[in-house]
Amino acid sequence: MKPLAELLSTNDVGELLEHIRSMTALVERDGTLVSWNPAFEVCRKLFPTANNLQDFFPQNDKNRVTSGLASKTEEHWIAKLPAPLSEAEIFIYCDCMLIPISEEHLLFVAEEVNSESAFQEVIERLNRQVKLFQIESEVSKKIARNKQIEMEGVMIQAQEVAQIDALTFLLNRRMIVRKLQDEVLRAERYNSLLSISVVDVDHFKVVNDTYGHPVGDEALRQVAGQLQDHVRQPDIVGRYGGEEFLILLPSSDANAAAEQAMRLCKEIRKMIIPINHSEQALSVTISVGIAQFRKGVDTWDTLLSRADTAMYKAKNNGRDRWSTAD
Ligand code: GH3
Ligand code: MG
Ligand code: MG
Repeated sequence: MKPLAELLSTNDVGELLEHIRSMTALVERDGTLVSWNPAFEVCRKLFPTANNLQDFFPQNDKNRVTSGLASKTEEHWIAKLPAPLSEAEIFIYCDCMLIPISEEHLLFVAEEVNSESAFQEVIERLNRQVKLFQIESEVSKKIARNKQIEMEGVMIQAQEVAQIDALTFLLNRRMIVRKLQDEVLRAERYNSLLSISVVDVDHFKVVNDTYGHPVGDEALRQVAGQLQDHVRQPDIVGRYGGEEFLILLPSSDANAAAEQAMRLCKEIRKMIIPINHSEQALSVTISVGIAQFRKGVDTWDTLLSRADTAMYKAKNNGRDRWSTAD
């Protein structure tokens, strides 16, 4: 059997196009309409000013038309177009085809498709979009999680900054006072021992005045390091003020605190602080005031004040020594 195309004359093809229900139009490469069959006429009636194939399609299908017009091969897509040969404005799903027939021209053919397969295509397209959204939302979730981790890191750093003294890296005044309040509560509640020591560097103003503030800072860092190194668990050291430190000794009486103070005075006295990378060096001493918590009598601030008074007693007695509160 010979192929149908070989048997049909040009007239026959013309007759065919006149009668078939497929909307057919000859268009130029830029989409300009050249000629069309009666089935396509309904589109022309609904869009009387349209003279380009693009004009008959909804906005979201225009890209398909553009790529079909530019293509060297046949392109298919599903789109909603006016129903051919109908008087009313009914839109139906059509299988649209653009077939290049020469360098300049393409044949556009739109055939009604049964709505089931058209819907199938729409559903598949929606499914693809949903999957895309799901992937995107996974990515957003990951980004959000990473941001949260980043934020937690910043919060931890901020907390540390809020608790640590920047010069000595000991607990700062706010934190050591908070710890003192906690320890006083614990000693009160459990009737446990608690002593504290206020440590003040002797004649520190002279250090600053003689060698300069940076050397003074270095001296404070080294004193802080020695204090931290020579206390035992569970003692806590903090920087209370300029050249003043506070040591908490939970479960210790004033005698244990005195032993510690003696050791600290000795260690600080031995310490050699280099001056601006020169041969010169300086040393400092400390005075320590000790107070033991008295249950039912002391609060955290009276305890602190007694230790402070004891520290001044040590100063008055000649410095580089410790003294215990009455
Ligand atoms: P005293 O033996 O009676 O304690 O004498 P002092 O000179 O140590 O006492 P005073 O309170 O007069 O001086 C304390 C000095 O500590 C004054 C202040 O400039 C210095 N100081 C406080 N904080 C810092 C600091 O962070 N760095 C330095 N380099 N010096 C500080
Ligand atoms: Mg002081
Ligand atoms: Mg001092």
